[in-house]
Amino acid sequence: MASLEAKKYGTVNLACNTEDRNHAYVPSQNSLKINNAASYFHYCANNTVYGTAWKYIPDTGRVPLVADMSSNILSEPLDVTKFNLIYAGAQKNIAPAGLTVVIVRDDLPIKPLSTTPTILDYGKMIENDSMTNTPPTFNIYVLGLVLDWIDKQGGLANLAEYNKEKADMIYSFLDNSSFYQTHAEPEARSLMNVTFRTQSDTLDATFVQDAEKEGLINIKGHRVIGGLRASIFNAMPIEGVANLIDFMGKFERRNR
Ligand SMILES: *Cc1c(COP(=O)(O)O)cnc(C)c1O
Repeated sequence: MASLEAKKYGTVNLACNTEDRNHAYVPSQNSLKINNAASYFHYCANNTVYGTAWKYIPDTGRVPLVADMSSNILSEPLDVTKFNLIYAGAQKNIAPAGLTVVIVRDDLPIKPLSTTPTILDYGKMIENDSMTNTPPTFNIYVLGLVLDWIDKQGGLANLAEYNKEKADMIYSFLDNSSFYQTHAEPEARSLMNVTFRTQSDTLDATFVQDAEKEGLINIKGHRVIGGLRASIFNAMPIEGVANLIDFMGKFERRNR
């Protein structure tokens, strides 16, 4: 989607394409075709739809590195110095929908197109202390509360341990079951979005309905891939993961 959008404004070179295995994996550093003349290299660090995540920060040499971190920001420590620009919609791990956090190197040469709206000009945004217009104040207030909460959890290192524990619980359950299949290949598995399916689309639909009765909601996979998806963002406690696994066991025994 990002590349289609970017095509409206300039030339896009696809550095990789993971369509061959239905986006179930992440390309290796060596397989990336980096164009040294590119204005920037863009990637999506955690693919919310397919449930994959990059386990390394791509080395793009002198080409500025830009990442969409909407669904993994604040899930684990990150060396932001490797990036020229990171953006993240707040709605997954930060605050209610409607706010986007952008982390820009202050030495990034910002050369907007002549047609770039002022509101999207990061140079202007920096000049105006992030208030080119009135920002969504309530979302920013909640963002502050979430950052305090992260500090109370012992910071991102602790949160990362907790997130790994949650994800490992579900993946090991899935790996030990012949009833469920995971979508993402093991080396590319996201800590935030676990994509899987049962034996058929009909059974997936029953799974969604039955899960809802037990208070396990929003378990339906994204429309482009179907199947099932457990989104276990920062706000999901380990008890929620345990409840899901308990339900998955019961569902398997009922429908095997
Ligand atoms: C959620 C998400 C977005 C933004 O989604 P919208 O519904 O368009 O706001 C963008 N990138 C990633 C990786 C996401 O997870």
